[in-house]
Amino acid sequence: MPAAPLRFMRVLDGLWQVGGDVITTPEDAAVYLVLFGGEAVLIDAGCGKHHSKIVTNIQVCLPPKTPVTHIFLTHCHYDHAGGARKLAEKYGAQVIAHEAEAEWLEQGDNSVTGASWYGATMEPVRISRRITRPVERFSFGGHILTARHMPGHSPGSLVYTAGMEGKTVLFGQDVHGPVSPQLFSNAKDYRESLEKLLGLGADVLCEGHLGVFKGKKEVEKFIRPYLAKAARM
Ligand SMILES: [Zn+2]
Repeated sequence: MPAAPLRFMRVLDGLWQVGGDVITTPEDAAVYLVLFGGEAVLIDAGCGKHHSKIVTNIQVCLPPKTPVTHIFLTHCHYDHAGGARKLAEKYGAQVIAHEAEAEWLEQGDNSVTGASWYGATMEPVRISRRITRPVERFSFGGHILTARHMPGHSPGSLVYTAGMEGKTVLFGQDVHGPVSPQLFSNAKDYRESLEKLLGLGADVLCEGHLGVFKGKKEVEKFIRPYLAKAARM
């Protein structure tokens, strides 16, 4: 039988979506691969069920022998973080998450991570570095990745921004929500975070599930309706 076709999406030079929905499985949130000079990082990790497809995509996208050094988690939910342990072990990568959610990740809490919604089990993962400040910067050679605490959808939700090709790229996680008591969501925080997201004036939005939006206007057009909905919560 011929091998299944590889499925990944180039977003910009050095930026690919390597996991998520039609790429791997609908249970995976979007997994983005970013090449910073001689090393690569992942934004989120998928749920872990189609780990090997993500690994194959990474291998195809990156120049040979490029190390994957960090996995930046946007939040603890199963579809974003369930695969972090396997990917961290595969690459010897550090895992970064917000301190508000580190315990749930390290304990593999099936309820707050939403794993139980999927009838799945959350694989515990050790968090190498906990984000504690509202804004923290990571330097990769001349490249900067900025972590920003944007609570609401979950208490320790993070978004990441990076400058690529002269554009501000926003890894905006679950901009679309939902806001749910089981997830310890907070409607007021969610609204304020959406306002801050708009204020970033990003040129490219890499969303957690719903695709990639290019151009400041398209990014704003995507975020605004969620802000309007949040204002009514
Ligand atoms: Zn989520």
